[in-house]
Amino acid sequence: MSEELGITVKRSEDFSRWYLEVVRKGGFIDQRSPIKGCDVITPWGYAVWEIMQREFDAMIKEKGVQNAYFPLFIPESLIKKEEEHFAGFKAEAVVATRAGDEEFSDPLVVRPTSEMIMYYMYKLWIRSYQDLPVKINQWNNIVRWDTKVTKPFIRSREFLWQEGHTAHATKDDAEKFLSGMIESYSKMYELFATEPLKLVRPKHDTFPGAGYTVVFDTLMQDGKVVQGPGSHFLGQKFSKAMDISFTDEQQKKQHVWQTCWGMTTRQIGMLIMHHGDDHGAVLPPAIAPVQVVIIPILFKGKEEPVLARAREAAKKIKARCFVDERSHSAGYKFSEWELKGVPLRIEIGPKDVEAGHVVAVRRDTGEKIIVKELSEIPKILDAVQKSMLEKSRAFLKDNVRDASTKEEAKKALLRGGFVRVQWCGSQDCDRAFKSETGGEIRGTALREEKPSGKCFCCSSVSKHVAYVAKAY
Ligand SMILES: [Zn+2]
Repeated sequence: MSEELGITVKRSEDFSRWYLEVVRKGGFIDQRSPIKGCDVITPWGYAVWEIMQREFDAMIKEKGVQNAYFPLFIPESLIKKEEEHFAGFKAEAVVATRAGDEEFSDPLVVRPTSEMIMYYMYKLWIRSYQDLPVKINQWNNIVRWDTKVTKPFIRSREFLWQEGHTAHATKDDAEKFLSGMIESYSKMYELFATEPLKLVRPKHDTFPGAGYTVVFDTLMQDGKVVQGPGSHFLGQKFSKAMDISFTDEQQKKQHVWQTCWGMTTRQIGMLIMHHGDDHGAVLPPAIAPVQVVIIPILFKGKEEPVLARAREAAKKIKARCFVDERSHSAGYKFSEWELKGVPLRIEIGPKDVEAGHVVAVRRDTGEKIIVKELSEIPKILDAVQKSMLEKSRAFLKDNVRDASTKEEAKKALLRGGFVRVQWCGSQDCDRAFKSETGGEIRGTALREEKPSGKCFCCSSVSKHVAYVAKAY
């Protein structure tokens, strides 16, 4: 695994290369697998994912969601049943056509998402109102054979995610559940110390088959956005197509109301591009696999008291601690943990042992703090978490610009970030603007804003306040 430490390029010089170096050298992912776009998530990156899983899993279980596992393969004849849905994935679908010498009469699609296989089972399981609601989530892998250039975590052909799928007796119950889920994702973003823009996607850009879609768009430091978790209100689209129905209390047949929602390993890439600096990743304490790395500064003949103090500190501090006792130089270790984004570094040398304190260094600001009581450390971590979130909020606020005409929008877009416009709601305006500038309408604010005036593109009456940005 050894290669030259340190990032050789600044974010301002080449953001894309900077990112590739951070994810690789920081130990998050290795792209050198034999399959392009199917990357190896290395232990440090996977440890971040495990924390995200643990946190979110606890949240959904509190809402009565249960985990299950459904097959990786979906018969082509089944997935084609909901045409509009399949059309959205068809171009990226990987299809298995044989096993050994046997050709399949019905080829098997490797799941690009699990609606069809799950709802096939829901149809078997749901009979009466007493069987509802069904609230199932699965943690699995997904394959979408993207033909565009891949980017580790952000755009990969195989990725990990959770996909939750619920079925309810009433529209109201489904929508209430979905807004609770949007709240859970908001809580996840607090752990990410990241302020997203919560958007309702334009109708023409909703998840294939969905009634409406709410996404969290997050601004990266290069001014482009990365889409975060999506929460979809499916209505009765699938239940009517697949006849997922139940008899209600009056013995009347009804179709269920459905939601689905997912969050992926893309979030790891988002965190790095959102918070990172020229030395590497900067992880918010809440999701850092190691929150405090303790580095003993060793001098020949004086090792023992320093090591003893370091090990003792790791036991006493109420946080995820790691004592780095490897034989590398202290400088090497500093650089490596900086790359990985560990929020707090503690240095302990012979003089610190004598003075009865430790030196803590914040990853986000570089601030050095002399700490006498180890019980102060969790408070410092809280402060890091809080100030990273505040910084993220300010970054978003500073990067939403208003534009009332196409020319203004173009100019604003050149500066990166979101451009807020008045929009007639027509897909043609979105298309025209996108082909000219690369920026697209990402959606309208979840907390709806009142339209006024004319569409920025075609000058007809505005129906929405919309947000435009360039996206990954
Ligand atoms: Zn228009």
